[in-house]
Amino acid sequence: MRDSVPSVSVGPAAVVSCHVEQPLRDETWARFDALQRRRPGGFDVIALIRPPDPAYGEAEEPWLERARAAAAHAPLGLHTHWTSPTHARPTGGDPAARVRAEAAWMRERGLEPAYFCGGGWYTDDAVAAAVQELGLVDCTPRGGVPAPGILPTTHSLGRLARAVLGSLPPYVHAYFHDYDLLDARRRTALLASLAVLGRRRPPAP
Ligand SMILES: [Zn+2]
Repeated sequence: MRDSVPSVSVGPAAVVSCHVEQPLRDETWARFDALQRRRPGGFDVIALIRPPDPAYGEAEEPWLERARAAAAHAPLGLHTHWTSPTHARPTGGDPAARVRAEAAWMRERGLEPAYFCGGGWYTDDAVAAAVQELGLVDCTPRGGVPAPGILPTTHSLGRLARAVLGSLPPYVHAYFHDYDLLDARRRTALLASLAVLGRRRPPAP
């Protein structure tokens, strides 16, 4: 059963993305990989993935293998963490330069990010300009409807779980973190919410 609210005018009806924060942690990766293969609610879950950070001893392999596996299931996105694997927002330097460098790094390795989401939801004018120049669709805005080059992120796991039981806006972009999948309760809530979301808002073509 689908709602009668017309959703065509706002573009894709529902989008689901995951902030892949722990791509090198086996347990987290296995959970994410299984979820992506399962296509909960019929959604191709976009992997907004954080590149490995050599400054923190993170190796390219098996990151590349995992990113390629994710790219086989759904479009990839770049999820820049500016300060460290566990500290997303910048604490100095040139944030836009890091975005350019990470996109180039991925492209040199045959990975083509299509989306971008700033770590900790950070952005600034230079970052937004770089994202646009790189041809990435920006998922960093936290609300509103899609616009050229922008696919705002609207629903956290908690908000989604509440929203699917009531009135849903025409456009929904739900996100979660890969580590949410380690928690059985959160995993179950996510799967249940996406099943309902998939019935009420068709996945983007
Ligand atoms: Zn993050």
